[in-house]
Amino acid sequence: MLRSHTCGQLRATHIGQDVHLSGWVNRLRNHGGLAFIDLRDRYGLTQVVLDPEAAPEAFALGATVGAEWVIAIRGTVRSRPQGQENADMPTGTIEVAANSLEVLNASKVPPFEIAREINVDDSQRLRFRYLDLRRARMRQNLLLRHEVTSFVRSYLNAEDFVEVETPILMRATPEGARDFLVPSRVHPGSFYALPQSPQQLKQLLMVGGLDRYYQIARCFRDEDLRADRELEFTQVDMELSFAEASDIMSLNERLFIALVGAVAPRLKIRQIPFPHITYGDAMERYGSDKPDMRFGLELVDLAPALANTEFRVFAGTLASGGRVKAVAAPQGFTRREVDEFTALMRELGAEGLAWLTFAEEGEHRGSVARALSAEEQGAIRSLTGAEAGHTVFIVAGSADLVAKCLGRLRQELARRLDIIPADELFFAWLVEPPLFEWNSGEARWDSVHHPFTAPDPRDEGKLAGDPGNVRALAYDIICNGYELGGGSIRIHRTAIQEQVFSLLGLSEAQTQAQFGHLLRAFEFGAPPHGGIAWGLDRTVAILAGESNIREVIAFPKSLSAVDLLTGAPSPVPQEDLDVLGLRLAASDPPDAASVAEPHLATT
Ligand code: ASP
Repeated sequence: MLRSHTCGQLRATHIGQDVHLSGWVNRLRNHGGLAFIDLRDRYGLTQVVLDPEAAPEAFALGATVGAEWVIAIRGTVRSRPQGQENADMPTGTIEVAANSLEVLNASKVPPFEIAREINVDDSQRLRFRYLDLRRARMRQNLLLRHEVTSFVRSYLNAEDFVEVETPILMRATPEGARDFLVPSRVHPGSFYALPQSPQQLKQLLMVGGLDRYYQIARCFRDEDLRADRELEFTQVDMELSFAEASDIMSLNERLFIALVGAVAPRLKIRQIPFPHITYGDAMERYGSDKPDMRFGLELVDLAPALANTEFRVFAGTLASGGRVKAVAAPQGFTRREVDEFTALMRELGAEGLAWLTFAEEGEHRGSVARALSAEEQGAIRSLTGAEAGHTVFIVAGSADLVAKCLGRLRQELARRLDIIPADELFFAWLVEPPLFEWNSGEARWDSVHHPFTAPDPRDEGKLAGDPGNVRALAYDIICNGYELGGGSIRIHRTAIQEQVFSLLGLSEAQTQAQFGHLLRAFEFGAPPHGGIAWGLDRTVAILAGESNIREVIAFPKSLSAVDLLTGAPSPVPQEDLDVLGLRLAASDPPDAASVAEPHLATT
């Protein structure tokens, strides 16, 4: 090695030793005739002293280097002069007095500072990701990610799981998103799809008798990007034979508890065992299927208070089967804040936002203070438990709209009220989601999870006549307002699988073409099986205290789905398309501005 120790290794016990260190120049300073270099590598920082008297050559060479140069030094470890120790640095009691310095490589002036955690424009960070990776935040996040994957692997290995790789080039597996297609050169006109998940293959592994499978699997979904979405993302994917939903949930619950204890012990898990909440309850109480349960502010149904109301908006909504619900906040709000909330609700599709701030005595204030009778206002106050000075926000509309609006308002209120506990994880299992949702555009049912999810046996009878009310044997793991992942018990009998496909509007021929391999496999003794997959990126982000998953991915795409580092996607010459039997429909060459510029072209 070009070093005897790393830059994070030396302590008081090394004093007097001759050492050889290599790393990057983090910072350079001159002080009282001496030069100081903080030398950095993955492991830490070590202070190196260059003394013009003791080592004139090293001192002279030191004067020529700059930030991010790669250098090696040889020297002797000594204690720092009294009063100059740095308790914040693990190597802060010592320094290395250099007797020689070697430049291993120079560096251009970096486009942003590495040494300090300053805010840098995101596109610069992605364009120069290798420099960004030198910064402490990214380094810690990637190390944490590594700890998480190693922990998960050893945990599952100890539980008799087998890690199996599944192909990236395969037939489409529907998870509800658009597929990435890869043209086949050997079979022009035919395409592979990149897997949206290894779903069918892991089920086939169960038919193959593997019994317990896992994979840290890359999944590809061609969707619009957001802070919590990448085109390709990583799942901890598993499947178990002869297991019931409760077995799969409890195994993963134990895994999450052990994982947090091992890699992020500063985080407290709010409730163990993780509570179970049904989909119906979650929507009713929180207006979301992935509620943040770290705080209350639950939704309250106001129908009982409004049975005879003369206020037309509420009466009309209730008469047409809609909902009128509220969230109560323990304080009053300024006009401007109320206007902001109202704008947010309108953006989400609500007609408006009604509100009432309760007075100690006399008339209450608010947009519906005149429209509702004193009796109705009293009933609303007792339903919501609001006290004097508290505000109740009310939305009327279809059940879905009210859930969406108040679910969002609840989060916004919690943020402004500053009642979301930091350093706390509230895990829960969301259970009994519906198996199907109605797709009115296509006039057919869609799977809520995916088409291989088993119906709850209690509802199997409704498959034929009342599919909308069939619950799925599925479960999502949610945490702090995020859906970390989900899974289900699978259909393992051909007859039910065929019935589901037909509800999804697939003809016999389509079913055979798309899923024939799976149906055939089920005819050869498929064991009962089920599984789950959870997002590694989101999990690591939560453990790292990051809100954007790009902070825990080494080389993510930008929000506009571009790899700013290498410049993907990029146009290809027509010859390359010819080989694949492809011709672009557009006559114009791809718009240069719409494709990424690799950074070399822009520095
Ligand atoms: N394949 C599913 C998904 O990606 C997870 C599962 O059902 O195991 O969401």
